[in-house]
Amino acid sequence: MALLYKSDPVRGARWKALFAQHAPDIEFRQWPDIGDPKEIRYLLAWQPPENIMDSLPSLEVLFATSAGVDQFDFDALPPELPVVRMLDPAIESGMIEYATFATLWLHRRMGDYVRQQREGQWQAHMLVPAAQRRIGVLGLGQLGSTIASHFAGYGFAVSGWARSSRQVQDVACYHGEAELDEFLSSSDILICVLPLTDATRGILNSDLFARLPEGAALINIGRGEHLVDHDLTQALDDGHLSAAVLDVLSEEPPADDHPFWQDERILLTPHVAAMTQPDSAFPVLLDNLRRHQRGEPMIGRVDPQRGY
Ligand code: NDP
Repeated sequence: MALLYKSDPVRGARWKALFAQHAPDIEFRQWPDIGDPKEIRYLLAWQPPENIMDSLPSLEVLFATSAGVDQFDFDALPPELPVVRMLDPAIESGMIEYATFATLWLHRRMGDYVRQQREGQWQAHMLVPAAQRRIGVLGLGQLGSTIASHFAGYGFAVSGWARSSRQVQDVACYHGEAELDEFLSSSDILICVLPLTDATRGILNSDLFARLPEGAALINIGRGEHLVDHDLTQALDDGHLSAAVLDVLSEEPPADDHPFWQDERILLTPHVAAMTQPDSAFPVLLDNLRRHQRGEPMIGRVDPQRGY
């Protein structure tokens, strides 16, 4: 029985060592050295090969190396093939760290102070107490709900929005289109932690920005295609939005002439909010492999209809 790994080769070496040490009954193979394809029952991949069942006829489960699965074309996957996303605790802690950094950067006006330093300006701005700063989290799933709870602990006024009704301690929860307006109107700093689906692509657009309070700021740690780039520039030029922190872009890296590179109101990072770490992800993956072998439900199953 073999597992085929098809992702970053550097981390592949660590995955291989972990399997050899803790699960020697599962042979670890690394793409493109797949050996006899009929022996491969599990695929751990960022992106599966084309015509997956032709190339891997004995495949039983597709494990994503990532928490998001928008890179998969579900129409090209057999509907009966279980798809499981990565619930690595290192992804959760990375996202919390990044959201904390980005929120405090905006809350404490660090972008302004960096600019002032360059201009030789020593000028204090009034502090806004955390309780008066309203944080809105788009997406209250595994990551969004943890981030929202974390900020409630800082004393911020936190709300969140999901597709269905959710309950998160100390967080005002909204759901569905009908409650989006109310949620947005009380979000001074909006953090997008949505999965990318047909329903959420382009959600961060002019219409949504207009429903945020004057001077609001945006953090996008979901996926680049949630954002309509030009609409953000427009909202910043109009002065309706004040700043943005973007970890993800629709084109990564952006073209040399993309306006975000030179825009001082935007802080860009190269999709580094969180990364799967083999050492912390391995126990999660192994637990799911053993669950599958025992015929038990796996954790993190993706619903192909919803796309997340
Ligand atoms: P989950 O699947 O656990 O949660 C998704 C949340 O989004 C749920 O609350 C869901 O609502 C909500 N949602 C989905 N579609 C809609 C919609 N149409 N309208 C309103 N709410 C919606 O995902 P995670 O929290 O684990 O991850 C979220 C995303 O974070 C990933 O898909 C990935 O894109 C991104 N990510 C980015 C990383 C980075 O490095 N920048 C790293 C890791 C993840 P409901 O609760 O009702 O289902």
